[in-house]
Amino acid sequence: MKEIIASEFESEVLKSGKVVLDFYSSECPPCEALAPKFESLAGLYGNDIKFVKIFRQKNKELADKLEVRSSPTLLFFENGKEVGERLSGGIKRSDIITNLNTLLSADQISVINNKITPTVTEYDVMILGAGPGGLTAGLYLCQAKINTVLIDIALPGGNVATTHEVSNYPGFIEPQKGYMLSHNMSEQTKLCGTAYKVAVDVSMVDLFKKEVILDEYETIKAKKIIIATGTSPNLIGVPGEKELKGKGISYCATCDAKYYGDKEVVVIGGGNSAVEEADFIAKFASKITMVHQFDTFTSNKTAQEKIFSNPKISTLFEHEPRSFKRVGDKMVTEVEDLKTKEIKTLESDGVFIFIGMKPNIQLFKDKLTLDQWGYIKTDEDMRTSLPDVFAVGDVISKKYRQITTAVADGTIAAIAIAKEMN
Ligand SMILES: Cc1cc2nc3c(=O)[nH]c(=O)nc-3n(C[C@H](O)[C@H](O)[C@H](O)COP(=O)(O)OP(=O)(O)OC[C@H]3O[C@@H](n4cnc5c(N)ncnc54)[C@H](O)[C@@H]3O)c2cc1C
Repeated sequence: MKEIIASEFESEVLKSGKVVLDFYSSECPPCEALAPKFESLAGLYGNDIKFVKIFRQKNKELADKLEVRSSPTLLFFENGKEVGERLSGGIKRSDIITNLNTLLSADQISVINNKITPTVTEYDVMILGAGPGGLTAGLYLCQAKINTVLIDIALPGGNVATTHEVSNYPGFIEPQKGYMLSHNMSEQTKLCGTAYKVAVDVSMVDLFKKEVILDEYETIKAKKIIIATGTSPNLIGVPGEKELKGKGISYCATCDAKYYGDKEVVVIGGGNSAVEEADFIAKFASKITMVHQFDTFTSNKTAQEKIFSNPKISTLFEHEPRSFKRVGDKMVTEVEDLKTKEIKTLESDGVFIFIGMKPNIQLFKDKLTLDQWGYIKTDEDMRTSLPDVFAVGDVISKKYRQITTAVADGTIAAIAIAKEMN
């Protein structure tokens, strides 16, 4: 692997055959998460593809010229031309491999695959999910000198990382940006010494053996597991929704509202998330139509008042979406009036969907006792129905899902484990 500066770009990248170039920055957690993957792939693919790194802050002009706008960004080159898809953010090993393999022949890929040696690493505790629940458990376990690994399919932070502002986490007088709050939680746990495996593919979880397989080659074993995998947004399940996800339909206001400056937006839902996020989107959009199946919002009254007093926001109660289509630049949402059965069409620039969440338990749902809504049942120490398997945060059966309650669960599980292990 070679580190270059901008003046070497032509000779080391454009005139060097097959190259993968990593634009990285300092103080960049996703760059730190990528670095070991990039290095290990350089070891595997290095005979056929050149691995090059460039420090973005010191080579800004080149980054701007190549339209690199976030760190890390991986670019793939073949004979002086950029090829394949750029990767940025929480980059997965499997996505890099997919891009690298497009540069190679089947024989070369097979030689590389034969070189991959499975690894096994053992810890005392593994935590699946690095949201507030998992991060807090990781902090307490680390401080109790218990060898712990935090595993996440994305970057650390969980749902807080994509929440625009958090105003109810104690200890902060001013509302905190969600990504900063989760960044601070993650750094605190990392600095303590907890191991991190983030932006990985978790392909197998064996709760009986306490083993998981990451990126199809790395086995992690532990004496105990904490499940802290949280929740993901529910889909409506109507035609066009899956196809237009990320192409006009969004589930994250923090991520996407800024792209709707002076544009018209439809928001589906009427609970706390929908109402709070609509209020946030209204900082950017010129007009918002909220579509909700009931005759009133189910969110808290203060948030509702903000919606009703905002002239940019109108409401369509007792309506449900029936399909989404893209027509030219516009999104067309078909909604049904539940009282009259009349179908209406709403034209907008984008659609946001906030209709609740579902627990992330696909990999182990058959092995644990769940409640009627599919959330994991635990006792007061956060123990599940399986020995040495704990669960914390939004993924468990409970009444209130907040950062404070996830953090509390993580604390309880870690203290219970520390008592058992010490
Ligand atoms: C839009 C929105 C706004 C919110 N606003 C607030 C607020 O203002 N105040 C408040 O207190 N709460 C708020 N919440 C709720 C709060 O975010 C959650 O209660 C909290 O994040 C739960 O933490 P958690 O650790 O249980 O799960 P999560 O935050 O959901 O984190 C779970 C983590 O597990 C990872 N994961 C998933 N599957 C796997 C797997 N198979 N293997 C490994 N890792 C996996 C995910 O990538 C994620 O990082 C909000 C939630 C949303 C969606």
